[in-house]
Amino acid sequence: MRCGVFLGTRPDTLKQIPVIWELQKNSIPHDIIATGQHTTLLTSVLEEFSLKPDHSFEIKRSGLNDLSGILLQKLHHLFNEYKYDLVIVQGDTTTSLISALAGFYSGAKIAHIEAGLRSFDCRDPFPEEMNRKLIGQLADLHFPPGAAARDNLIKEGVLPTDIHLTGNTIIDLLRITAEEYPDQENNVLITLHRRENWGHKMECACRVIGRLAEKYPDKQFIFPVHPNPKVKETVYNILGDSPVQLIDPLSYHDFIKLLKRAYLVITDSGGVQEEAAFLGKPVAVIRETTERPEIIDSGAGILCGTNEQRMYSIIDKIFSDPAIHKQMKKYLKAYGDGYSSKEIVAKIKGYE
Ligand code: UDP
Repeated sequence: MRCGVFLGTRPDTLKQIPVIWELQKNSIPHDIIATGQHTTLLTSVLEEFSLKPDHSFEIKRSGLNDLSGILLQKLHHLFNEYKYDLVIVQGDTTTSLISALAGFYSGAKIAHIEAGLRSFDCRDPFPEEMNRKLIGQLADLHFPPGAAARDNLIKEGVLPTDIHLTGNTIIDLLRITAEEYPDQENNVLITLHRRENWGHKMECACRVIGRLAEKYPDKQFIFPVHPNPKVKETVYNILGDSPVQLIDPLSYHDFIKLLKRAYLVITDSGGVQEEAAFLGKPVAVIRETTERPEIIDSGAGILCGTNEQRMYSIIDKIFSDPAIHKQMKKYLKAYGDGYSSKEIVAKIKGYE
């Protein structure tokens, strides 16, 4: 059996890395295909982990339609030449959806890692919620990261025998990386990038962060700013002259080092929420909906919404009431304990 492992963005690459290592350990033939959805962010992750894709594309595009159309054509040629038996995609990116679709058209089977997450709002997160649902329709093997995701797939009619609850592979990478760094509570780590938050919602979130940084000067607020121009412009306009330290995106290792030093994490990222909750770092989630209910239900995270006053008062309480902060340190194991890729590859190995 020959596998094609598809990656295109920083998060899906980080989550595919432990799977690739496990495919290598098990001598399962595979090609790594980098679609070029992200440019600088993807290159830096590939370099950091000395990962050399077997095939890389450069896609000059503006927007999701261009990306999807151009990628589908390129993958058509790739699949004609390299007849993969199994396509391995991760999560909810447009890279994963189009790779799964091209794989399906070529007759390959599809394995979906981080399957079954649902916010139940097709436009939030956008386009990820719809991407996930569509990949779920194309997939033969489903690897949900948690029980809620597994239950969603069952409710949608996926056969339980095609579903393997494994945990999230980002926890595998985190388990190995995080032990290198000391656990402290010095800073407030911030990331914001979600498309559905661009514009007014992100402006509100930035104003809230600026006010909190003024009010709590004993904590260092650090914000690695996503390179997307829509994000960068808003963040630098509002927080450029504030006490918040705005920095370029960090390497994965540097980011985890900073996360280990965090007192609080403020984020709209999916992956960062999972990492923070696993490390016992309270997380304020700047979103209206969540597809990761385990984080909110356990109390490790609070869904703050995107209304300015509401966000401010929720996050302010975490700072001002030590009991709330203490209760949020959960060291969440709902997404596994860091051995998911081993289980995933064992299932792939037994799948013909
Ligand atoms: N990350 C990183 N450097 C940074 C910020 C984040 O390596 O400066 C990592 C982080 O550890 C996590 C992933 O990027 O694993 C999350 O990516 P992102 O927030 O872009 O996407 P999402 O998880 O929301 O899909």
